[in-house]
Amino acid sequence: MSYISIKHLTKVFTFRDGSQLTVLKDVNCDIEKGEVISIIGPSGTGKSTLLRAINMLEPPTSGEIWVDGENITAKGYPLDKMRRKMGMVFQSFNLFEHMTVLENIIYAPMQLLHLPADEAKAEAMDLLKKVGMAQKADVYPSSLSGGQKQRVAIARSLAMHPEVILFDEPTSALDPTMVGEVLSVMRQLAKSGLTMLIVTHEMRFARNVSTRIFFMNEGVIYEDGTPEQIFEHPIHSATNAFVNRIHKLRYDIDSDDFDFLMIHTGINRFCIKYSITEKGEAAYALVKEMLFERMPQYRPITIRLTYTEQTGITALDVMVEHITESPLTDADRKALRPKVKELIEEITGRGFRVKFIL
Ligand code: ADP
Ligand code: MG
Repeated sequence: MSYISIKHLTKVFTFRDGSQLTVLKDVNCDIEKGEVISIIGPSGTGKSTLLRAINMLEPPTSGEIWVDGENITAKGYPLDKMRRKMGMVFQSFNLFEHMTVLENIIYAPMQLLHLPADEAKAEAMDLLKKVGMAQKADVYPSSLSGGQKQRVAIARSLAMHPEVILFDEPTSALDPTMVGEVLSVMRQLAKSGLTMLIVTHEMRFARNVSTRIFFMNEGVIYEDGTPEQIFEHPIHSATNAFVNRIHKLRYDIDSDDFDFLMIHTGINRFCIKYSITEKGEAAYALVKEMLFERMPQYRPITIRLTYTEQTGITALDVMVEHITESPLTDADRKALRPKVKELIEEITGRGFRVKFIL
């Protein structure tokens, strides 16, 4: 039998007025020890509810969950026993604000595992080192950044020696600049052989660290497979549409008193968010060159940066309405081509587009 086995799991929420909402319809899956599973899918499709059901924070309406050969959904099953094996890391960190970082970490091992204080502290310091937070052992959570809080929350979870950790969008509440530090800690954990279930919107991360991906849609695991299967050869069109999403950043500029600093910041944040920081400088330099040097007489003008999830292609579009000929001269082309992978000039339904593949 698999380490975790979920059979015909359903969850129905019943509201005061008697109406019902079926959030998990018939979830079935088997998870082996050491697997790193990313759960992806549109919001509202039951991803969090599934994680919460797996550690019985949200008892299922029907179906069974087996962990390590035991039916944890059986009546009277000692849930504290199961929760000791299963850590959970939330979007909102949930640290104890009135305790220092170190106290946060030693609390459960001392209370629940009855570890002596010095032993618990020594281990906590090791864990804090592991997540790069040893220097903050004696501060209170309120003085930490979101990324730091989340790394402490991960260390706290590890202090209980869990066999599996469930992560519910651990980076969603973070400023984009802090996502990387948390993902890098998680990447280390994945390599160490810990079993992990991760609800995430970080597609690149999911693709790189997971042994398997669950695509959830409308209350079921709609498709599951290796990252390659899900991202490169999805069977269902809903999976395909989801993994092929295109992220866009757009500025419509109609005069010259626009806030260029805002555009710079916007491009930076966009590139950090989708882990394409290496494209940021080039995109910014091109936008500046196009707006001020190549096409200063074209207003209004639209700048659009796109990142396509599946292909990993980053493109910068510069668009002008109501013109039918390229705004570029041969000299422009000659200057621009060496700076990009591809330069495409095309007439669109509304005007003309100069497209750069970065
Ligand atoms: P996801 O994590 O995929 O965004 P959730 O599991 O959080 O989705 O929620 C799925 C659906 O269940 C949503 O429509 C949500 O409003 C509903 N839901 C979640 N938790 C509760 C609850 N405790 N009571 C009632 N409805 C809930
Ligand atoms: Mg959720």
